[in-house]
Amino acid sequence: SDAVLEVRGLNVDYGLGDEAVHAVRDVDLTLHRGEVLGLAGESGSGKSTLAYGLTRLLPPPGVISGGEVLYHRDGGEPVDVLRMSHAELRAFRWAETAIVFQGAMNSLNPVHRVSTQLTDVIRAHDPRSTPAARLARARELLGLVGIAGDRLDSYPHQLSGGMRQRVMIGMALALEPKVVIMDEPTTALDVVVQRQILRQLVELRERLGFSVVFITHDLSLLVEFSDRIAIMYGGRIVEEATSGELYRNPKHPYSHGLLNSFPALRGPKRELSGIPGSPPDLRGMPPGCSFHPRCPHATERCGVEVPVLGVPHDHVGPDRTVACWLHPVHDNGF
Ligand code: ATP
Ligand code: SF4
Ligand code: MG
Repeated sequence: SDAVLEVRGLNVDYGLGDEAVHAVRDVDLTLHRGEVLGLAGESGSGKSTLAYGLTRLLPPPGVISGGEVLYHRDGGEPVDVLRMSHAELRAFRWAETAIVFQGAMNSLNPVHRVSTQLTDVIRAHDPRSTPAARLARARELLGLVGIAGDRLDSYPHQLSGGMRQRVMIGMALALEPKVVIMDEPTTALDVVVQRQILRQLVELRERLGFSVVFITHDLSLLVEFSDRIAIMYGGRIVEEATSGELYRNPKHPYSHGLLNSFPALRGPKRELSGIPGSPPDLRGMPPGCSFHPRCPHATERCGVEVPVLGVPHDHVGPDRTVACWLHPVHDNGF
C-alpha cells in the first residue's frame, strides 16, 4: 500500500484506574505517502494526545493503553512504533518522523543563536559531520523555509514569531523525515502569516516528498491546504474525508457545526458559534454518541449506542468514513 503511517485501535489515557482520563479512543488513521492530512477538533478533543501518542512523546501521566502504530519504511517490513526499543525510537524521531510541538515558536532556547540550535540537531544524529558541513546544512535549511542565511547569527528574540516558526520547521526537516507532524504551529500568529507558512510547507512537501499531519482548530486552513481531513470529538475520530468532500458535504453534525464556525479572516478568533454547548468532560462522557447533548439531530438511539465509524452507504471506498446514526454504514468490513 502507499501508507506511511497506520494507526490502529489507538487508546491513550492520562492516569491509571478509576482516575484515568480516556483522551484518545479507538482511533484508526492512515497517512499516505506525500499527503497532507489535517486533524481538526475543538480544544480538548485529543488532537495533541493522538500526535504525541503515535510518536511516543506523551508527557506523564499519559499512557498508551492499546493499539498499534505501523510505520512503513521504504521497502521494508512495517514496524510498530509502540514496540520500538528506546534506541530505535531515537533513530525514528527526527530522522523518520519529526514533530513540531504546539507552541514551538516559543521553544527555541533564548540564550543560543539559531545556528547553534540547528547544528546541534544535525550533530546529535550525525556526530561525525564536520562543523563546516553542519553550518552549511543549517544555512540550507533556513533557505528552505525562506530565511536569509545571515539570520544564522540571530538570537530567537531578534526574530519575528513567524520567523521563529519557520526556524522550527527547518529544524524538523533537518534529517529529511518522511513524516512531519505539526501541532498547531501557527495559532499564535497572524492569519496572513499562518497562510504563508502553511503554503510554504505544502510546497516543500511537493519538493521533498514528505507527508504532513497538520493539527489545528482552524478548519478553513485545512480545507485550503490539506488533501484529507479527520475530525476529532471527545477523543474519537468522527469523520474522515477528502478536504473537498468534507467542505462540500460534511456528514457528521459536528463537522457541519465546525464548518459553520469559520473564524473571521482577520481579528481575534471567535467562539464556535456554529455549535451550541461545550466540549464533553472526558471524566464523565455522555453515553452513546458523545456529541448527542449538543446535536440538533439526536434521537433516542444516539443517547444509548455509540455509532460505529464506517463508510457511509452512498460512498464507495474507505476514504470516506463517518460515525453517526444518521448515516447508515456498510457492514462489509471496510
Ligand atoms: P487543544 O486544541 O487545546 O490543543 P487537543 O485537542 O490537543 O486540545 P489534548 O491536549 O490532546 O487536546 O487533550 C485531550 C484531553 O486530555 C483533554 O481533556 C485534556 O484535559 C486531557 N489532558 C491533556 N494532557 C493531560 C495531562 N498531562 N494530564 C491529564 N489530562 C490531560
Ligand atoms: Fe447526532 Fe446521533 Fe449522529 Fe451523534 S449519532 S452526531 S447524536 S445524529
Ligand atoms: Mg493540542
